[in-house]
Formats: sequence, C-alpha cells, structure tokens
Amino acid sequence: MKILILNAGSSSLKYQLIDMEGEKLLAKGICERIGIEGSKLKQNVNGQAYERIAPMKDHTAAIQLMLEALTGDKGALSSMDEIGAVGHRVLHGGERFTASVLINEEVKEAIRANIPLGPLHNPANLMGIEACEKVMPDTPNVAVFDTAFHQTMPKKAYLYGIPKEYYERLHIRRYGFHGTSHRYVSKRACTFLGLDYKKTRVITCHLGNGSSLAAVDCGKCVDTSMGLTPLEGVLMGTRSGSVDPAVVQFIANSDGLSVDQVLDILNKKSGLMGISCKSSDMRDIDDLCDAGDEDALTARDMLAHSIRKYIGAYAAVMGGVDVIAFTAGIGENNDIIRRMVMEGMEFMGAKLDTEKNLKNRVETVVSADDSRVKIVVIPTDEEIVIARDTLAIVSGALMD
Ligand code: ADP
Repeated sequence: MKILILNAGSSSLKYQLIDMEGEKLLAKGICERIGIEGSKLKQNVNGQAYERIAPMKDHTAAIQLMLEALTGDKGALSSMDEIGAVGHRVLHGGERFTASVLINEEVKEAIRANIPLGPLHNPANLMGIEACEKVMPDTPNVAVFDTAFHQTMPKKAYLYGIPKEYYERLHIRRYGFHGTSHRYVSKRACTFLGLDYKKTRVITCHLGNGSSLAAVDCGKCVDTSMGLTPLEGVLMGTRSGSVDPAVVQFIANSDGLSVDQVLDILNKKSGLMGISCKSSDMRDIDDLCDAGDEDALTARDMLAHSIRKYIGAYAAVMGGVDVIAFTAGIGENNDIIRRMVMEGMEFMGAKLDTEKNLKNRVETVVSADDSRVKIVVIPTDEEIVIARDTLAIVSGALMD
C-alpha cells in the first residue's frame, strides 16, 4: 500500500509518499507560504527536483496542487487512487489519545477541543485533515499524535505542583511533545544495539530547533522535559526552556507588557537567539564560537548544561540508564554538543569515545568500548512511524 504522510503547519504542508512494500520513499515535498503571497510547491522524486509557483489560498488548494504534482510527469503516481491512506501528524491529542487513531467526526471534534493546548498547530492539522476529506473522500485518514507516547507518564511526573483544580478544570499538566520521535529513537536504539526494549532504560535527546528529552523505562515514557506547551525544558533555538515563572510577572510589571507579550519573548526571542543576540541556528552559533564570540560561547555552554541536567535527572528517575540516544538536527549532526553534554559523565558509567563521536548523520555507537552506558546517534524518522501506524490501523490492527 502507498501511504501519504502529511505534516501541516499554519502556512506550510510537508508531505512524503511511502510505498509500504519495502518502506520505500517515493516522493517528498513541501508547500510553502499557504494563504500568503508567493506560495510555492517543491517536490523531489528519485532525486529529480520539481518546483511550481502557484497561488494556494488555503490548505485545500495546497493539497490539490500536491496531488497534481504527485500524479504529474515529474510525480510518482499515475492516479491519486493509488494512495491507500493518509497519515497526519497531529500536535496535541490531550489526554484522550494514547495511540494513533482512524479519523472520524468524533476524533476531529477531540482535536478541535484541544486547540487551546496547541493553538498554532492543531488548527493547521485539522485543516490538513479536512482538505484531504474534501479532495480524497474515499481515502481513510489516520491521526498520529506528538503527545501520545508520553501518556504513560505517572501522575507524579505529569502533574504540576499547583492547586489540583487546575488539572481537573483546565487539564493543566505535562503532556510532552516529539513523542513520535522519542518512540522511534528509543526503540530503534535498542534494536540497533541488540537490546531488549522492554528491559532497557533509555534517555532520548531530541535536539533540534525545539528540543526535548525523555526517560523511556522498559519501553514506556516515564518523564519528559516539555510540558503543557513546548516551552518548558532545555534551552532551544528561540525558546527559553524552563524559567522561574516569576520572571513573567517581573518583566511584565517592569516593562508594562502583557503576559502574552512576555510569553512571546520566551517562545520566539529567547534561547540561543536571546543569549547570542545573533542566531537561533546551532551552525551559526558554532561559527560564532570559533570566532571567539563570548555570547555565542555562553549560549552553547547553557545549551549543553541544560541537557546534562535532564540526563542526570532522568538517570535518577529510572534508577540508572543503559542507553543515551541523540537525535534531530543538533543531536545527529553536532559532535561538539554531544561531547560537551557527555563530558565527565563517567561517574554514571557513560564514557564517550571522542573519535567515534566525530561521526555524524548515521546510526552509530559513539560510546567507548568499556562504557557501561551505550551512547548512540540515531537519526529520527517520524514519517516512518506515522506510515507504519497508518498501515496498521487501516489494515485493522495497531501493532507495535
Ligand atoms: P526542527 O526542530 O525545526 O525540526 P531540526 O531538527 O532540523 O529542527 O534542527 C535544527 C537545528 O539543527 C539547527 O540548530 C541546525 O543548526 C542544526 N542542524 C540541522 N542540520 C544540520 C547539519 N547538517 N549540520 C549541523 N547542524 C545541523
């Protein structure tokens, strides 16, 4: 079966077409600037690039153009009827979804009900779903939630220490994100190392523009660093990560800003960007560090320090750790950050091999031969998880 994977953002739509026989990537593309001037579709099939500049007034128009590109001369399909199912990445499933589901009216209603928890992404995800229903009415749609994998966290990890009525009335709790990536990487790391997933304690470090860590104890997530929203946790590209909440009040009162305005600063102007004052991108930060830029050096130190704190915490939470896995843009490509994070961790049995650590972008062991804790780089593949779940659901059984 051929499965289309959609990742809809507010003004973009990323897609992949995968032939599940052999899990072969047939096409990959992106529609950018949906609803704004200069909309563009970019697609790649077998290394052949295709671009089309055409107006896309909404997600339905983008999906129509995507189907035209997929079935055109530079495409990978002779007809859209070849698409057996569509798997949608959905940001927030709240407490309702602990696994992927076949989308029906009730599921859409639940995604809608979670809009206050995912105000930027859930509406875009719904637009993507509704556009597919309109354009391909006979094709089943499956939702794969970023939050679902973290639903196994115990109460002591997901509740905040605030009056419990806020949990009961407003559902305020830790949800966690990047769940599809943490699920894939934790399992794949064990398979790669020949370890039994159900008997292994893994810490996954998903380090990209947005970053989060998860403690995965014998296949179940028991804690994660992002919270009610993706703002909590380690330092990120433009997000501050955890700060004392009183900071919000302090800035708001001092500078006459609203809570929303301060949150905007914490989400969009902080992190690597806020500290370096120059860039949110780790490659730029490294270049600046090479040139001796003090602010960039501080930003990089802060990033590594915040990751180290979570690794220590999660090892304590699980009573030890067997595998530490690095993934996503920074985790897969940045040997400097991996080295800074793992430096001096021999006390807990984790010793990096600084030579092996220079290898990037491939599945690889970067720990020393005598390290009890295995340290690995595992390129994430959220799309394949979405495709496998979609196939399993439309074939009638969700296997894992
Ligand atoms: P997102 O969270 O947007 O999916 P990514 O996982 O792509 O982000 O991570 C983006 C970060 O990873 C940036 O800080 C970037 O500098 C870094 N990064 C991505 N690709 C590379 C690469 N090939 N080499 C070095 N750094 C990279």
